[in-house]
Amino acid sequence: MTSKIGSTVLGHPRIGPNRELKRALESYWAGRSAEADLREVARTLRQDTWRSLAEAGLGSVPGNTFSYYDQVLDTAVTFGAVPRRYADLGLGALDTYFAMARGTEQVPPLEMTKWFDTNYHYLVPEIGPETRFSLADRTAVEQFREARELGVETRPVLVGPLTFLLLSKPAEEGFDPLDKLAELTDAYEQLLGELHRAGAEWVQLDEPAMAADRTPQELDALRNTYRRLGDLAERPAILTACYFGDPGEALGALAAAPIEGIALDLVTDPATQDRIAATTGLSDKALVAGVVDGRNIWRADLDRCMTTAATLLGSAREVAIGTSCSLLHVPYDVDAEPNLDPQVTTWLSFAAQKVREVVALGRALREGRDVVDAELTEARAAVTDRAAADRVRNNRVRARIDSLRPGDSRRADYAERQAAQRKSLRLPPLPTTTIGSFPQTTDVRKARAALRGGRIDQATYRQRMRDEVERVIALQEDIGLDVLVHGEPERNDMVQYFAEQLDGFAATDNGWVQSYGSRCVRPPILFGDVQRPEPMTVEWAAHAQRLTDKPVKGMLTGPVTMLAWSFVRDDQPQADTACQVALAIRDEVRDLEAAGIRAVQVDEPALRELLPLRAEQRQAYLKWAVESFRLATSGVSDATQIHTHLCYSEFGDVIDAIVALDADVTSIEAARSRMEVLADLNAVGFDRGVGPGVYDIHSPRVPDTQEMADLLKAAGAAVPADRLWVNPDCGLKTRDYAQVEPALRNMAEAARQARG
Ligand code: GLN
Ligand code: ZN
Repeated sequence: MTSKIGSTVLGHPRIGPNRELKRALESYWAGRSAEADLREVARTLRQDTWRSLAEAGLGSVPGNTFSYYDQVLDTAVTFGAVPRRYADLGLGALDTYFAMARGTEQVPPLEMTKWFDTNYHYLVPEIGPETRFSLADRTAVEQFREARELGVETRPVLVGPLTFLLLSKPAEEGFDPLDKLAELTDAYEQLLGELHRAGAEWVQLDEPAMAADRTPQELDALRNTYRRLGDLAERPAILTACYFGDPGEALGALAAAPIEGIALDLVTDPATQDRIAATTGLSDKALVAGVVDGRNIWRADLDRCMTTAATLLGSAREVAIGTSCSLLHVPYDVDAEPNLDPQVTTWLSFAAQKVREVVALGRALREGRDVVDAELTEARAAVTDRAAADRVRNNRVRARIDSLRPGDSRRADYAERQAAQRKSLRLPPLPTTTIGSFPQTTDVRKARAALRGGRIDQATYRQRMRDEVERVIALQEDIGLDVLVHGEPERNDMVQYFAEQLDGFAATDNGWVQSYGSRCVRPPILFGDVQRPEPMTVEWAAHAQRLTDKPVKGMLTGPVTMLAWSFVRDDQPQADTACQVALAIRDEVRDLEAAGIRAVQVDEPALRELLPLRAEQRQAYLKWAVESFRLATSGVSDATQIHTHLCYSEFGDVIDAIVALDADVTSIEAARSRMEVLADLNAVGFDRGVGPGVYDIHSPRVPDTQEMADLLKAAGAAVPADRLWVNPDCGLKTRDYAQVEPALRNMAEAARQARG
């Protein structure tokens, strides 16, 4: 009989408490350090993690959670799914791995996409008839041994075979990666065998793909695979982890499989608890109850977690305590936040705190609540304090929301708006514009760093930014663009900039979370009712507008994107929180209008990111997402032109929502897909201004006039010229002027040619 799990976390951050891995990676990539140096940093990070998890008292410590870049890429390499073009580079193992992650001079990297509905991005494996799965890399076994030498028994974590193939893309059209499942399962069997011989008692196979809708064939594949893996004679006990939502019918399939444990997410979807109660076949299994939220940063209500876990007692051989998912999605440690408001701090729990919560709950469940009375009491006090805190509930905001009427999120008919805007803006056909940001130059970054370091004062900083705005306006006039922007030099980040100015948000110093590879983000914490104490952007936009006769477009971030890229309060529906953010933006839009700004863009690049994994929940989400955008943008006169901007490659699931946003002009990423999105928009009757990107800003390449003219021609074939705008795919802040200036000149020239 396998030993009990007791308490565990499904995974852990790996970038380092002070982003040590980021620095080591970037230094290695830049050729400033050797592979051995990088490996040494990695080893230290891994070992520190194992040690701290073991010392904290977890019943079972996850292993193999370290990655140099991405766990899906690791899985591809483990099982030999390295596409020919990378293998042929003739590089060493680590450099081949980085070539897949980042590309080289010769080959582009693998495609990257979002890991379910998180802000983490994984590399998409390419699987084709040529792929030969085998156990090609034994890192998982080596790291198990490495931990054991330190005296820590770990439970190696691997992406499960179904999720791996479901996230892969076919290397050639018409091929289904799932056709390779049997061969891949052979390779997993071999790995499980080796882990067993190395002494691993448990292994964790992650199958988050089960939180999304799956076909009967896919569920059969799950059933067969776990039957096969379970029937293996010499193997560790298998814990299959389903997270990011309700596992649906996959739970029944796994319950029937001869495996020893299932880890479930009991935070995301309340339906999961009922599903467990209705599932037979769990009585011989360990059930890891994921009651501690693995991806949000609120301190757990330990009493409530206990109640949830206790209701499951009896349904399984063992009920253990776990996190809902890997802790990869939260920062390391609240104690590294000396500047956070002390009261807010007591409401938070990052990875280190979550480990302690899990341990305490595990003990409470096994030994009784008394043994962790101090922890329970402290958590209760924090939960009560947060619920009652003044700064969480703002009665003025609440009253304002109560008094909203349906008309507040409706504008006049488009025809009327269009007529008024024509008069006010007087634009040529095919107007040219940009998405908002201009390159963040070294000078701009230096000025921001100097302000932070106290080397320059606010006034000096602001003057430098005003100078930068002046340069950006002059450049746009020189190029001959029609609707100008101020360039966003004063913004560190399109969400953080606003979060810093809004009541209800807090910013961290060190709350970094891996986004992809060495890239980390520091999401603001939305803890309370949101209110805008004063205008946030008006000064910059008005300054820019004073410098030109051309219309300057105000630039704001939309409510959905504000939520998607923050840690959001969990004590009220997201729809309510979005509504509060929308009101703050609405005030800003109106103030911009009052300051003489005639066009305002409200960016919603994250509209698709919060889309629920299950189709049946999507309508409800899109309804509040659209409503919040409309509330933010409907407070202005007909003559004020509302723009929005969206960027991601697939729009299929949100195409109706884009129409429903009711923006006057929508700029949208389209260069790489060669204007495909226009046909989709036409199909649903979209009849507003549209600016399909003609310039892919993701690469440093400067497209020439002809190339953009061709794209414009393609766009003109799909959309009448009087609705068409000309703009790049996205903001320009990550590019250099050396690329941006010629590209924009070419773009303006392409528009001039097209007009003729
Ligand atoms: N206005 C923003 C910019 O130009 C939009 C960025 C985005 O879409 N991610 O930078
Ligand atoms: Zn964009």
